[in-house]
Amino acid sequence: MSSEFSLIDRIRARIALRPDVVLGIGDDAAIVQVPPGHELVIATDILNVGVHFPAETAPADIGWKALAVNLSDLAAMGAMPAWCTLSLSLPDGDPDWLDAFIEGFLDLALPADITLVGGDTTRGPLSVGVTACGLVPAGSALRRDGARVGDDVWVSGTLGDAALGLRDVLQGRATDPGLRARLDRPEPRLALGHALRGVANACIDVSDGVLQDLGHVCAASGVGASLDPDALPAGAGVAAIQDPDERAALQSSGDDYELCFTSDPARRERILAEARAVRTPVTRVGTINAGAGVQCLRDGVPVDLPQRGFDHFGHLN
Ligand code: ADP
Ligand code: MG
Repeated sequence: MSSEFSLIDRIRARIALRPDVVLGIGDDAAIVQVPPGHELVIATDILNVGVHFPAETAPADIGWKALAVNLSDLAAMGAMPAWCTLSLSLPDGDPDWLDAFIEGFLDLALPADITLVGGDTTRGPLSVGVTACGLVPAGSALRRDGARVGDDVWVSGTLGDAALGLRDVLQGRATDPGLRARLDRPEPRLALGHALRGVANACIDVSDGVLQDLGHVCAASGVGASLDPDALPAGAGVAAIQDPDERAALQSSGDDYELCFTSDPARRERILAEARAVRTPVTRVGTINAGAGVQCLRDGVPVDLPQRGFDHFGHLN
């Protein structure tokens, strides 16, 4: 067990500062320089053991995921990552655990060019909170409230891989390493989010399931959406599931960290070109309409999916 201060020193020793950090870890607060003409975009997410990751998760993977879920929020806003803080509640001050955690955190922080500038360290049940700050040219952020009637609905990558990996973990089965990586080391779609500025009308990251998250876009924009569950992009593991309802339920249960966005149909070619340029596949899955809420249509017939996403204060509903 180490003292709070030696743990903080262990973290500080690993951090290389971006040039726009005026003052990093060590004072009462950090100081950073926001470039002229830019807006600061701020996202925060907590990960709790047993709720957001299984207790057996490797500390390096917890470090990666704690940052990844926040970078996914910045991606959904079209923001470039810049600075972050880290609030750690640790059951025991195990320096080996902390070193591994920081290793995984930096595996993502370094390529994303985000600097850890502060945080808090306390004893308690294992819980990790990250606040990530990003930058956008003023007025250019992607928001949930811009979807327009007639827009296409798109999603990036594939959906359902993390949920399938988690199902294996919870049922004590060996997990395919690719699925486990999708669960433990989601890749925030930063380059795509950036490329979609000025092209997409609305954007959200798929953390709670595509139906629920698209529902948030609809509510914020005052529109409805229809979605074809069979059009949802699937990786090999999910695609191999025969029952279309089971497949669609997995694909709408969350933890995907893909982007769901809407755009004018006149921009289809542009969207595909931008996506190709950042080597991120995108798939058209539905349409924005003048109604309210998200309706699933299979061959034009409304279908009800058995599961509609994750709600921490409800249940898997
Ligand atoms: P204070 O008493 O002012 O809250 P702390 O002792 O909590 O200060 O923190 C000292 C310094 O270490 C601060 O700059 C704080 O931001 C930083 N810090 C504390 N915990 C972490 C952490 N988990 N990750 C990064 N920086 C941290
Ligand atoms: Mg403190």
